[in-house]
Amino acid sequence: MKLRFGLRVVISCLGCFLAVGLGLIPLTRMPLFSESMTESPRAAPPAPSSLPTGEVRAAAGEEERVTTQLQLGGFLCASCGPSMSKNECIGMEKTAYLTFDDGPSGNTLRILRILREHGVRATFFVTGRAAAADKHSLQAIVEAGHALGNHTYSHDYNRVYASTEAFQADVRRLDRFLEQTVGVKPRIMRFPGGSNNHQSRKYGGSNVMTNIIRDISQQGYSYFDWNVSSTDAAGAVVSEEQIVEAVKQNSRGKRQAIILMHDLDQKTTTVDALPHIIRHLKEQGYRFDVLNKKSFTFQFLKPGLEINRRKHTS
Ligand SMILES: [Zn+2]
Repeated sequence: MKLRFGLRVVISCLGCFLAVGLGLIPLTRMPLFSESMTESPRAAPPAPSSLPTGEVRAAAGEEERVTTQLQLGGFLCASCGPSMSKNECIGMEKTAYLTFDDGPSGNTLRILRILREHGVRATFFVTGRAAAADKHSLQAIVEAGHALGNHTYSHDYNRVYASTEAFQADVRRLDRFLEQTVGVKPRIMRFPGGSNNHQSRKYGGSNVMTNIIRDISQQGYSYFDWNVSSTDAAGAVVSEEQIVEAVKQNSRGKRQAIILMHDLDQKTTTVDALPHIIRHLKEQGYRFDVLNKKSFTFQFLKPGLEINRRKHTS
């Protein structure tokens, strides 16, 4: 099993370096600490009641990037990345950030019950449509002390990634809704599909993410991608075992783990897997926390790096 995983990382890594060498991938877009460059096979999950089918399909496919890790120069931590020295990283307490995207859903209350039973907090990146459809669950998230993040109101790639203005309007719409409904105005957000999603180019051109990231950052939002995928969006139904195994595998060696999961009606196996995931992470010595503007962050695409990339390619 270990050998197979190692082999996969080596092959993936060789492929990346080869692609960079051939000029196929700009170096600054290459994750230094090993997000897999390939996307998992896409399968269309059934649509939940609150979102149209196409939208969910795009979200599930884009958000599924299996993260792996590399052991570089004997330094095992893959989470801190180049922004932190080895000593700084080792000085940090092992922390796991459970994150749930796309909710609330019919599973939210079950998720909240499990979190309560295990005494841990999580971060919910909600959408406006889902939140509007289930204000009760939204309220329950806030009352239990979990963090709310903005995941755009519509979660419609076509709409939000059409331009920076369109993106901001969508984000502000959700901010307003959350403020009016539960009295919370999130300052943290997650892009549908992540900051390096490919779908956005189709709708807003190749620089749209660069511009959105710059504007959103200037307005004081912190955005969060993930460095541990649960792979729960790899297919319509991913088995509980696969989800648990993916979190175990992808969190190995990371002192800071931002774990991507989904809070959608059809993701019942994610809920089934949750107690096992929490137990495993506790056994590995993690404490749990919610994301906030001061917490550890992991970003596939940073404004500075993207600007560098543009310089090199223009
Ligand atoms: Zn999403």
